[in-house]
Amino acid sequence: MNWYQWNEEKLQEKLGVDIDKGLSTKDAENRLNKFGPNVFDDGKKTPLWLVFIKQFQDFMVLVLLAATLVSGLLGEYVDAIAIMIIVLINGCIGFFQEQKAEKSLAKLKELSAPMANVLRNEKWEKVPSSELVVGDVIKVTSGDRVSADLRVIKSTSLEIEESALTGESVPASKHATAMTKDGLEPADQKNMAFMGTLVTRGSGIGVVVGTGMKTAMGQIADLLVNTEQQQTPLERKLAELGKLLIVIALLLTVFVVIVGVWQGHPLYNMFLAGVSLAVAAIPEGLPAIVTVALSLGVQRMIRKKAIVRKLSAVETLGSASVICSDKTGTMTENRMTVKQIYLDNDIFDVTGQGYDLKGEFQLDGKKVDDPSLDSMLLYGAICNHATLMKKKGNWMIDGDPTEGALLVAARKANITIEDTNQFTIIHEIPFDSDRKRMSVVVEDKQKNQFVITKGAPDVLLPRMNYVTDASGRRPLRTGDQKQMDQAINNMANQALRTIAIGIKPLKKGQQFDDMLLEKDLTFIGIYGIIDPPRKEVKAAIAECREAGIKTVMITGDHAKTAYAIADQLKLIPKGGKVLEGHQLSNMTEEQLSDVIEDVYVFARVTPEHKLKIVKAFQRNGHVVAMTGDGVNDAPAIKASDIGVSMGYNGTDVAKEASALVLLDDNFATIKSAIKEGRNIYENIRKFIRYLLASNVGEILVMLFAMLLGMPLPLIPVQILWVNLVTDGLPAMALGLDQAEGDVMKRKPRDPKEGIFARGLGFKILSRGLMIGLVTLIAFITAYQNNPDHLRYAQTIAFTTLVMAQLIHVFDCRSEHSIFSRNPFQNLYLVGAVISSVLLLLVVIYFEPLQTVFNTMDLALRDWIFILALSAIPTVLFGFTKK
Ligand code: ATP
Repeated sequence: MNWYQWNEEKLQEKLGVDIDKGLSTKDAENRLNKFGPNVFDDGKKTPLWLVFIKQFQDFMVLVLLAATLVSGLLGEYVDAIAIMIIVLINGCIGFFQEQKAEKSLAKLKELSAPMANVLRNEKWEKVPSSELVVGDVIKVTSGDRVSADLRVIKSTSLEIEESALTGESVPASKHATAMTKDGLEPADQKNMAFMGTLVTRGSGIGVVVGTGMKTAMGQIADLLVNTEQQQTPLERKLAELGKLLIVIALLLTVFVVIVGVWQGHPLYNMFLAGVSLAVAAIPEGLPAIVTVALSLGVQRMIRKKAIVRKLSAVETLGSASVICSDKTGTMTENRMTVKQIYLDNDIFDVTGQGYDLKGEFQLDGKKVDDPSLDSMLLYGAICNHATLMKKKGNWMIDGDPTEGALLVAARKANITIEDTNQFTIIHEIPFDSDRKRMSVVVEDKQKNQFVITKGAPDVLLPRMNYVTDASGRRPLRTGDQKQMDQAINNMANQALRTIAIGIKPLKKGQQFDDMLLEKDLTFIGIYGIIDPPRKEVKAAIAECREAGIKTVMITGDHAKTAYAIADQLKLIPKGGKVLEGHQLSNMTEEQLSDVIEDVYVFARVTPEHKLKIVKAFQRNGHVVAMTGDGVNDAPAIKASDIGVSMGYNGTDVAKEASALVLLDDNFATIKSAIKEGRNIYENIRKFIRYLLASNVGEILVMLFAMLLGMPLPLIPVQILWVNLVTDGLPAMALGLDQAEGDVMKRKPRDPKEGIFARGLGFKILSRGLMIGLVTLIAFITAYQNNPDHLRYAQTIAFTTLVMAQLIHVFDCRSEHSIFSRNPFQNLYLVGAVISSVLLLLVVIYFEPLQTVFNTMDLALRDWIFILALSAIPTVLFGFTKK
């Protein structure tokens, strides 16, 4: 027998679960321990030792190691050991950086892991899908990815797209009855839902019958795992740049060696110096530092409640020029409260705050009790899937907040679950943002059946032909229509979202034809629901505007409701336009892109329109962020440059399509993510500038000295030491720098701009040249004063080079001038510089190391000379803005 052949009783017995109560936490825990988590086996991981060894695979590092070996064999033990140790430390830093990047990527994966809605101890709760066990009862709704193999036991128009498993792209509808046939293929098992497939419509409840590798998808899981981590565009660009820099560094080094040999230096000395220089000058750590900067930035974003699912989004965020944001829940609180009710040509006010059940119905300020009001509220509570619950003394909603608001309003008229339980829902056409309405067919205790439909008034009113008044049901007249329009406009102008409700009695035994059910309805009334804007959104929109980013509101709500909220948020300027869904439908993409720059609000849109909006903005050269939460939003999210989904209210499909998940569904979080994105990019520019300027300085001092026929200003270990100390900690600390004050006052970054754009190339070359020059001057001066004492001059050159770099690092923090920033703001950097200086002092003054590093004690006079020279590159350029 197969799962699909068993009835509910048999299932309960086989799986050891009471379907109405779910498993107990203890039982679930035991099963989890016994059968393991609900995950596919991971692909093979690279062992740690191999990752470590890989740090030394670099060609130039290998040459250096070989050269060191040779010098060791020639008896230069001290040099050889020192170089080996430095190379080892360098490898450790690389290893540590790579591990850090790896760990934060794994953490990201964990955070965006899917959750399942499961019945445990008679309560519905959300648990990570990986903790599901056989016997769990779980609920799936439209937009969910099914998280285990399920035998469906309840289906409400449940439809599932199973193409990943069966190749069939048309969604299959699922039912809950046992099937008798034997040997059915998955595609024919209409009461099963399979792990990894996608709920496209309706909802359902199922019992878990298989988890992890023991699911239908698990059998083919080998095909799904082992996907390679992709490089971000910036990482790719830098990798290419890195290759170019290697060639340049090698050519220059070869040149230095040739000139050195030509000037009479021994070949062996020049060779070792050359290889050390090449190792120092090649920014081999750059890609790793970039990844670390990206992933550390991503962790900072998590603290601000934004999860980046694709690292590449971090870069794109900095270029975003338009944010298209859903209104409900993203700009507003999604805490809906019915404020007004239109019924029998009257507008009733509803008092009370939020989900609090206290409140009354008033007409012209006086409390009223009206039986027709009660029946409307009862209909609203029946055509409803939300539930009310008390948490920590406060009433909360489980389900759609719009429906929650209708429940709360009903409770204010003392309509409870006992009243709604008098009616059984026997059929349903679910709500979706395309239809903007939902219907249920219900049966009362006397077996009378009728339809209740609720939805956007402009969608529903054309489907209503009757109205009830004191005399009973009668056909709608033009006058009624006018009154209704007036009421709707009135409510919308007060920023209320409107929902109309209607009913239709059905003849006994009538077949349910979804096409006909929602026609010829009898109008009952209209709810006016408030959903206040989130507090922080207004300021966030203003900040985005200052940053050259346009914010656009997209909503399924009425144009007037949308406008009223946009106005409250100061989102729409004078002359800004509101465009409605039906207007959008009649425009081509080109026509839309011609007018779209003036549009700030899109109202009564369906998810399909969102794609058109994204494309029209992109046509005008914009980098677009688009939010979404439903299944149908996925194409627009994918097509946008930065797809944004909702962590709290979003569907799995929307999350999977998105690059950024907002944990709190809040618009302001998008702004914070953009700010962080801009900052991360700026930080990457900062350390590229620092590393490359330092390297240019190192190469030039050697080159100039050789050209002038001088001795080597730095010996190989010194070069390697400079590379290790200055490139290591200070560069990392730059990656952690805070944003510059004006980072949200600049225009969005041009996505086509190269790494060296906005003067970075000039900054690198000019500072690098100056660092090289001052080091050379220090060396020549010291050497001329004391030509017998090369070691003294080399110590001076070494110290000047290190100090010039350590001062210059503070200059790299600003796009403007070193004087525009407080150097003590980035304490990591201050710490990194202090520790580098301490290490420098150890190398200079600690006797045993003096032999290794060819250094000697320096006097105060030397230090004054060194500091004065090494400050020149930074101070000089500090006065210019270039
Ligand atoms: P967004 O999140 O994109 O801002 P929205 O919440 O504004 O979307 P929808 O949820 O698509 O838009 O709602 C559109 C309209 O559908 C609402 O104005 C309301 O009239 C109606 N509506 C919303 N929720 C329901 C529901 N649960 N049942 C029936 N009608 C609804």
